[in-house]
Amino acid sequence: MTPLRLHNTMSLQVEEFHSLEPGHVRMYTCGPTVHDFAHIGNFRTFLFEDLLRRVLLQNGYRVTQVMNLTDVEDRIIKKAAEHGQTIDEFTEKYIEAFFEDLDALRIQRAEHYPRATQHIFEMVSLIDLLTEKGHTYVSDDSTYFRIATFPRYGALSHLDVKGLKAGARVDVDDYGKDDPRDFVLWKARKPEEQSWETPLGSGRPGWHIECSAMSMKYLGESFDIHTGGVDNIFPHHENEIAQSEAATDKPFVRYWLHAQHLQDAVGEKMSKRLKNFSTLRDVIEQGYHPRAIRYALMTGAHYRSPLAFSAELLKAAEGAIKRLNEFAVRISPSPSGGGPGGGSDIPSPQRGQGQGGGRVLHLWDDALRDDLNLPAAVGHLFDFVREFNARLEAGTAAPEERAAAAAMLRHANEILDVIEFPQAIDAEVERLIGEREAARKRRDFARADEIRQQLLAMGIQLDDTKDGPRWKRVP
Ligand SMILES: [Zn+2]
Repeated sequence: MTPLRLHNTMSLQVEEFHSLEPGHVRMYTCGPTVHDFAHIGNFRTFLFEDLLRRVLLQNGYRVTQVMNLTDVEDRIIKKAAEHGQTIDEFTEKYIEAFFEDLDALRIQRAEHYPRATQHIFEMVSLIDLLTEKGHTYVSDDSTYFRIATFPRYGALSHLDVKGLKAGARVDVDDYGKDDPRDFVLWKARKPEEQSWETPLGSGRPGWHIECSAMSMKYLGESFDIHTGGVDNIFPHHENEIAQSEAATDKPFVRYWLHAQHLQDAVGEKMSKRLKNFSTLRDVIEQGYHPRAIRYALMTGAHYRSPLAFSAELLKAAEGAIKRLNEFAVRISPSPSGGGPGGGSDIPSPQRGQGQGGGRVLHLWDDALRDDLNLPAAVGHLFDFVREFNARLEAGTAAPEERAAAAAMLRHANEILDVIEFPQAIDAEVERLIGEREAARKRRDFARADEIRQQLLAMGIQLDDTKDGPRWKRVP
């Protein structure tokens, strides 16, 4: 089995992945700034993180993922004031909308979604520690990080920091603000702005400090993976490294992964700053199913390549999902009970040979373990679908092979999560479980066992619990 390999922005190499703690991955993903509905381009990054999470899970890891919600920031404060609302009142609607959008795209939930406004104490403590160690200075009641005290600054973005103007500073923390100078940790209160009374004075935290404080609170001072979009590399992630490592004297993160931009059809980066703004909701309103959007953003290009967002891309995704759904129907056992007859040879994608699911399963897994190459994995899947369809038409696919193909498709769908399996399978499973229970009641254990084997052949594992039988799909 090939090991899992991931591209690390720090080394610019594809590296073999090893978690700090065996079997457990701790990962931090920069979340949305909740001042508006999230832009479709943000979801390319969130879907890349969903892909990463699912591949880690499929490779047997337990995952603890943290995604922050940036709910204190210049635009939020400004807009909340315009609406005569507190920060919480203003952001509530957009936080709710964000989770609805995640669900629409079937993005698996992280374990923690900490909000900046609920971690002011942790941020103040971290700034205090940086001050104790001589990494900060105060100017006009705001506290700044002095980049000159952190010689490794620039390592992640591979920037030549010598050219950065020393002593200059910036107190704007707009998401994606591109300024190479000292950055603000704590901003002094401005009139009319919501603020917090702390030993640092009356004010509010800068954007960068929140991710250092919240990641280390939930994941420890050193953890495995930190992700974001490429526009986070500088200055945001560079600043996170400086703040965290200057405070702890420990390596902050082992693997930095970044997703490329989503572009519009003419190749311009799609963002709120440009006119081509469109939210996930806009795209759904144009009649596209969230599953097609999910598939398009995940498979349209490798996560490190730019992807052009277009109607053609979404139409191609719709077509691909339709073909996969049709294939799922063609290989499913018929509800009349004509499925494979059991016996000792239980097909599984691992055991299926040649024309069955075995070869494609290895190709699929290897492609994903090669820096999450989902476009390549999907290519292998469609080669298999084409070959297997030909065999179905020729009538040369044995029931065991069909079951193995179905198991392969379920395995692929653990990552894709777009295929609708025919309800007939579930109905058939329930019918067989009922028949097996009846057989057990009349002590016909041979028949009960036979049915268990038949279910296994369909890729269904049965567990007898004290509350009765439970079933699950085995990939
Ligand atoms: Zn962040």
